[in-house]
Amino acid sequence: MATYIFGHTTPDTDSIVGAISLSYLKNQLGEECIAARQGELNPETQWILNKFGFEAPLLKTQYAGEDVYLIDFMESSQSPKDIAEANILGIVDHHKLGDLKTNAPLEMWVRPVGCSNTIVKEMFDHYDVEIPKDLAGMMMCAILSDTVIFKSPTCTKVDTKACKELAEIAGVEDYKALGMEMFIVKSDVLNASPRELVLRDFKDFNMGGNIIGVGQLEVVDLSVFDTMKEDLFAAMNELKEEEGRHTVLLLLTDIMQEGSQLLVLSDDSAKIENAFDVKLEDAQVWLKGVMSRKKQIIPFLEKQF
Ligand code: MG
Ligand code: MG
Ligand code: MG
Repeated sequence: MATYIFGHTTPDTDSIVGAISLSYLKNQLGEECIAARQGELNPETQWILNKFGFEAPLLKTQYAGEDVYLIDFMESSQSPKDIAEANILGIVDHHKLGDLKTNAPLEMWVRPVGCSNTIVKEMFDHYDVEIPKDLAGMMMCAILSDTVIFKSPTCTKVDTKACKELAEIAGVEDYKALGMEMFIVKSDVLNASPRELVLRDFKDFNMGGNIIGVGQLEVVDLSVFDTMKEDLFAAMNELKEEEGRHTVLLLLTDIMQEGSQLLVLSDDSAKIENAFDVKLEDAQVWLKGVMSRKKQIIPFLEKQF
């Protein structure tokens, strides 16, 4: 029986590339594994797969009775609905400890680094398995994406080292230029509906019984959103009503200015203001230096709930 490897709902590049890189490694180690995904690819990830000549992982959302490895998440709110009936063999991740439970001992590779693919790179090194050139290129892109070309406060020396080594294997000299090219693809927000944009990199968190949804869009120039705010708020409101969410937040991150415009729809906006010690104006606020949802947003929200 094959084992499925997949990342979180509304998968990002790290989740998709991680499913591919970890299943390649596991297969080399003699474990039959299939890379899978829980949702559609975003334009950035599609661009990376095309560039390095890879197929998208298998789209699969039901896992009852299956053996699985999780990569890039360990929260039930980001899992398939039937995750409790799956057999989790292992987790490779760089997020906070989640609420999932297992029935048996499992393999855990969890580190506070900037990207799951950094950990997969360390696993390749640990098992002394060679990384194919094109796979190395994709893993390098995943690190550049998750660390926002090393600018995110989540980025560590381990990430920059892994990225440089992968760039060498991939034969990419100017990997920062490639990263910039990737973020320009990511910045193309004009061909998507407001709802698609809010959902492009969206995660739900359960905080004290409340569902808090947080989306993030990383662009090279925030002004692309100037004419779009109202439509984004309308889409956020839809998402808030649909699932009875307490709060829906959208982070519009400017990777050049290194900060984020935070858009807020909440049953209790004071909680959000308190979390970041700010006053909202028109339900938004500029958060200077904030680039990471994981490190600069979620922990502060958790304290309020
Ligand atoms: Mg991710
Ligand atoms: Mg990640
Ligand atoms: Mg991210």
